[in-house]
Amino acid sequence: LKVENKTKGKHQKQICQVVLDHFEEQYTAELGDKWTSVRDVLTCPSCWQYAILLNKFSQSAELENTLRVEGYHPAFQGTLPYLPRSLKCYISRTPRRFPAQKHQTGKLKEYYLLNAASVLPVLALEVKDGEDVLDLCAAPGGKSITILQCAYPGQFLCNEYDDLRSRWLKQTMESFIPDPLVNLITVSKLDGRQIGDFKPELYDKVLVDAPCSNDRSWLFSSDTQQAKLRLIQRKELSSLQFQLLRSAIKALRPGGSLVYSTCTLSKAENSDVINLILKSCANVMPVDISEMAKAVSEEFTFLSDTQHHELLVLPEKGKAWGPMYVAKLKKIK
Ligand code: SAM
Repeated sequence: LKVENKTKGKHQKQICQVVLDHFEEQYTAELGDKWTSVRDVLTCPSCWQYAILLNKFSQSAELENTLRVEGYHPAFQGTLPYLPRSLKCYISRTPRRFPAQKHQTGKLKEYYLLNAASVLPVLALEVKDGEDVLDLCAAPGGKSITILQCAYPGQFLCNEYDDLRSRWLKQTMESFIPDPLVNLITVSKLDGRQIGDFKPELYDKVLVDAPCSNDRSWLFSSDTQQAKLRLIQRKELSSLQFQLLRSAIKALRPGGSLVYSTCTLSKAENSDVINLILKSCANVMPVDISEMAKAVSEEFTFLSDTQHHELLVLPEKGKAWGPMYVAKLKKIK
């Protein structure tokens, strides 16, 4: 099956059949009929949509005018108190791609391209000015800079284990966040599984945007052998995700909360991991995020039979956002 990637012009993306077959079996069992429409979007790059997150530290009225002329509109309108006024994210109902901005030393970028569903974990985290925040798996930095569009944290630790990706994260921060604010943010390169032991009970909010099966990009793996290996190793991700969550809970102050997110539809990496945490950690309880989901339901399609503390964004034509799983937990003692 050859798919023309109109969003990228001349490049052609090719579906990786082993991944598609694997997903077909798993997601038909997990999602039933809904998988068919999700699959239709995921396998059609020309249907994909991109949101534009404006950088409040480099505001441009001209850019907003251009976006409106090009058919974009601000997302999440009328969804306060969930949407901080300073967060501006433009989307368009039709698939189109705004050009990405190149890194230029000494110049802040005006916007960041992202999947609009990536804003949801940050909205669920509800960071307030002065709160100490840990972004446990932060590279390339999309959610870290989204957090900074919403609030001015006290301490802000952005962590990424992978060396190259950690450098990428540092560059993202420098491209979006001005001096002296950028100097108040710490970028670390630790194993997220150990941060809880190094920094116990230090944070009010922790984001665990976990390493996961990336359904959207895996479907276009160009190397079949590598794709097969990924599918085998996929089973180990749940255990890594569980350990990252355990560490995040240790890093939280009593009363603090965490948001867990992935960009996969897989139940094994989503609600199964959260249910295991709820079963095995007596000091955490689920936090209801259904009001937030309701407030943004015009822009997203959610799986209907999830619990109050979680949501799963299902990509749909015209609302091609996600997959994105979000769950929120609170540390009670
Ligand atoms: N939050 C990022 C954003 O919005 O741009 C995306 C994060 S991505 C889903 C997950 C990241 O976790 C990857 O960059 C991966 O290298 C990193 N990672 C993998 N294992 C890790 C570990 N043990 N500790 C910390 N980060 C890890």
